[in-house]
Amino acid sequence: MPDVVVVGAGPAGLATAHTLARAGCAVRVLEAADAVGGRMRTLRADGCLIDTGAEMLPSAAGYPATWRLISAFGLDADPDAVPRVRGALAVWRGGRARPHAGRPLGLLTGAGLPPGARLDLLRFQTRLNRMRDLDPDHPERAPLGMATVADLVRRYHPDLRDYLVQPIAAGFFGWDLDHAAAGPFAAHLKASGSTGGWRTYRDGMDTLTRALAARLDVVTGYPVTRVSTTPGGVRLDSPAAPSSRARRCWPYPLPWRPRCAPTPRRTSGPSPPPAATPRCSASPWSWTGPWPPPVCGGGSPPSSRPRRTR
Ligand SMILES: Cc1cc2nc3c(=O)[nH]c(=O)nc-3n(C[C@H](O)[C@H](O)[C@H](O)COP(=O)(O)OP(=O)(O)OC[C@H]3O[C@@H](n4cnc5c(N)ncnc54)[C@H](O)[C@@H]3O)c2cc1C
Repeated sequence: MPDVVVVGAGPAGLATAHTLARAGCAVRVLEAADAVGGRMRTLRADGCLIDTGAEMLPSAAGYPATWRLISAFGLDADPDAVPRVRGALAVWRGGRARPHAGRPLGLLTGAGLPPGARLDLLRFQTRLNRMRDLDPDHPERAPLGMATVADLVRRYHPDLRDYLVQPIAAGFFGWDLDHAAAGPFAAHLKASGSTGGWRTYRDGMDTLTRALAARLDVVTGYPVTRVSTTPGGVRLDSPAAPSSRARRCWPYPLPWRPRCAPTPRRTSGPSPPPAATPRCSASPWSWTGPWPPPVCGGGSPPSSRPRRTR
């Protein structure tokens, strides 16, 4: 029986499982689809790669955790494996693509925006640069309260919203400007910087998720339909198979940092690369987040700190 089951083999679930495995847990990942990747999945047909969702990733300043994993797995050892996107973003307007959107050159060439909107783009960028506490890892700290992305850009030229912000928010995150929170958007935009530095994966946007999955125990075609707490741990039901069991099932992102005994108990496949921040403690499990942690299945939180049992 695994110590922890992670539901979902998208980038977040696999990164969580990797962290837990590095901390010494026996982890199993259950994925409903028939392949890993989630919204970063890539289909392969007739020699073509078809990214079904995500298509680009910003530089390390924008996605520090992703780039730590990319480096840890050596995915960037080949300089062509995570290349810059030539031309980066273009704005579709008047029947053709206008390149250089979101980079300094675009302010000169226009990049599909009239002069008033370009001026407002500069004003918007200056405002973001001056804003403190814009941290993609802590978007809740952004000083934007309950503002939506639509609120954030309302004061500017409407073309900025319609031809730049809306396509970025919808294309990158699947967000609706009237409902998406401004904080995460502003934090990501500021950290991501010029689109001239944005990259993609030569071998498909699922490159990192495939690398993670290759080192983990992942079961695909396994939709979890119910998670319930049991005296011995957690039970997961699926029409795909008889119920699975685990000692713990945690939602992600983990609200605490797992620590573990120094020697991993179980690994499968090739040895994973060193964790970015291995932290060990004498006790098998402890966490730095608020107590009690949330538990799956709506059950009561455990009355004492859980111990990993064998
Ligand atoms: C159109 C589009 C374009 C995007 N473009 C970009 C981009 O260019 N750059 C970028 O960085 N990001 C982009 N994103 C965002 C990026 O894809 C997501 O942020 C990322 O995939 C989220 O990862 P996740 O693991 O949280 O969720 P997901 O990727 O959604 O993964 C969740 C996984 O859990 C599985 N699952 C869910 N419920 C169950 C269940 N009950 N049982 C078993 N399995 C389950 C799902 O099948 C899925 O595989 C884009 C998103 C979209 C939709």
